[in-house]
Amino acid sequence: MAGTTHVSYTANLLKYMSLDQKGSAIAEYIWIDSTGGVRSKSKTLPKIPPSGEFKIEDLPEWNFDGSSTGQAPGDNSDVYLRPVAIFPDPFRKAPNILVICECWNADGTPNKYNYRYEANKLMEAHKDQKPWFGLEQEYTLLDMNDRPYGWPVGGFPGPQGPYYCGVGAGKVFCRDIVEAHFKACLYAGIKISGTNAEVMPAQWEFQVGPCEGIELGDHLWCARFLLNRIAEEFGAKITLHPKPIPGDWNGAGLHSNFSSEDMRKPGGMKHIEAAIKKLEGRHKEHIAVYGEDNTLRLTGRHETGSIDAFTYGVANRGASIRIPREVGHKGYGYFEDRRPASNADPYQITGILMETIFGGVDDAKKA
Ligand code: ADP
Ligand code: MN
Ligand code: MN
Ligand code: MN
Repeated sequence: MAGTTHVSYTANLLKYMSLDQKGSAIAEYIWIDSTGGVRSKSKTLPKIPPSGEFKIEDLPEWNFDGSSTGQAPGDNSDVYLRPVAIFPDPFRKAPNILVICECWNADGTPNKYNYRYEANKLMEAHKDQKPWFGLEQEYTLLDMNDRPYGWPVGGFPGPQGPYYCGVGAGKVFCRDIVEAHFKACLYAGIKISGTNAEVMPAQWEFQVGPCEGIELGDHLWCARFLLNRIAEEFGAKITLHPKPIPGDWNGAGLHSNFSSEDMRKPGGMKHIEAAIKKLEGRHKEHIAVYGEDNTLRLTGRHETGSIDAFTYGVANRGASIRIPREVGHKGYGYFEDRRPASNADPYQITGILMETIFGGVDDAKKA
């Protein structure tokens, strides 16, 4: 990549990556910290199960120093890592694995930043609805000076227009990272459904889904881990800030597409409309968990709706909720919640969608 001062020793590293591991496997335990970033550390698993495949029950609980990640006080700093999802490791390859973990406190309560726990209860309570999610993760690549990658030093690229789904030098930057990430996601078994270059240069998107229930959050967080880990090798930073550059530059979102089984069947539009009515009544509650600094992005310009108003429409990219043209035409399918910011937590988004549309965990018990 042009303009980088990054030094790579890949050729040296490769000599070691193929060494025999003498029957053990390496598990990379991954968790989410207090800032919505990913952290990870590596553990030797001395025995590989006879089937060759690790299951959650084969993986020991582990811990880390929560005072170093803003997740626990210094005088009671142990936070526990409980494995919840396993993916093949595209860096170390088989038999090595990536492990998404939930964070738990020493007293047996979920950690403050463990948003998966509540979301999973809602998914379980309403699993008969067969909820599907597809999230579009937009992100921006930065150089080591925190400038969007490839932007001229001390200046700006030409106005937006040629960059969205662009092809060619000067239109897109860091395609190597995007390609590496796509391949790594497929190797890991992540349900990535596509990628595209975005409206602002050095901004890209990948989509995960459709995934049922809690799986969406697990897959999206693993995809975020892979993106940061791969960009690290290429000497680029990932930012999920929803408005990385102020002014006439598009922000970054996490459009959240949703359907229940009823919505996907002929006549499903009435279920989509009923859900939108419920979303309208809880606009503020949704915005509260749809990411930090989203006020800078949801301005009513740059293909967004205003943060203060709930709106919806068929094929309307300036609305809070968009019903895709084809769905409007067929009369069933799914809808898109365009409000979430790129830095929102997918467990919080999918959790509140379930709660608003189908009711809380207690409502499900009563029903
Ligand atoms: P956009 O036109 O908004 O850019 P994308 O193609 O980027 O849309 O993303 C659409 C997302 O919607 C994908 O992640 C896809 O998997 C997801 N999706 C498609 N059908 C459904 C459905 N029935 N329920 C939930 N999500 C869906
Ligand atoms: Mn998209
Ligand atoms: Mn997009
Ligand atoms: Mn979209």
